Amino acid sequence: MKESKLQQKTRAKSVVSELNKAYPDSKCSLNYSTPHELLVATILSAQCTDHRVNQVTPELFRKYKSPEDYAYSDVAELAKDVHSCGYHNQKAKSIQGSSLKIVEEFNGILPDTMVELVMLPGVGRKTANCILGEIYKVPSMVIDTHMVRIMNLLGFTNTKDAKKIEFELMEIFKEDKWVTLTHMIIDHGRAVCIARRPECGSCVISKFCPSEII
Ligand code: SF4
Repeated sequence: MKESKLQQKTRAKSVVSELNKAYPDSKCSLNYSTPHELLVATILSAQCTDHRVNQVTPELFRKYKSPEDYAYSDVAELAKDVHSCGYHNQKAKSIQGSSLKIVEEFNGILPDTMVELVMLPGVGRKTANCILGEIYKVPSMVIDTHMVRIMNLLGFTNTKDAKKIEFELMEIFKEDKWVTLTHMIIDHGRAVCIARRPECGSCVISKFCPSEII
């Protein structure tokens, strides 16, 4: 029988409560010290591990200290600097293009709304939600590969469409949990609910998961 919205919300609350206990220190795993550095790191993290991004950014942030430094940089040189993150040409173009727009149209300040953030070259909802949640403390969910996979396994959605998932989850999970939920699910996806071999036997949310493998 199909679960009612109320039942889904109750189950969601239990999932959050268990994850909170298991991952009390869950947070963004990208290193940054300014809002703009987070934008750069987030763009670099597409199709790349946060670990790899964190290896590249210390030197990058030493070399490029402000949005202006990226905005007026040589894109080919920037591409070389981010080469090991993959898709380096595209990522360099996005970083340079978005930085230029921030400098020339937003007075050098990273915008704080979804509408404005997605106007920046190379910035989609995922990156925008990351900025909104981390920097501006706006309730938001980052629908990355772990969120897509695990929310499907948990039966809170049955689509792979990130935008649809985001809106569906916003109805099920309480707004003040959205940001930490993303971080906890990412931690859970790395540690326990691993793609291709979920370790259901040691999963703290197994009793709330219809996909548990016994
Ligand atoms: S019970 Fe298994 S499939 Fe469900 S969330 Fe836990 S590890 Fe993933």
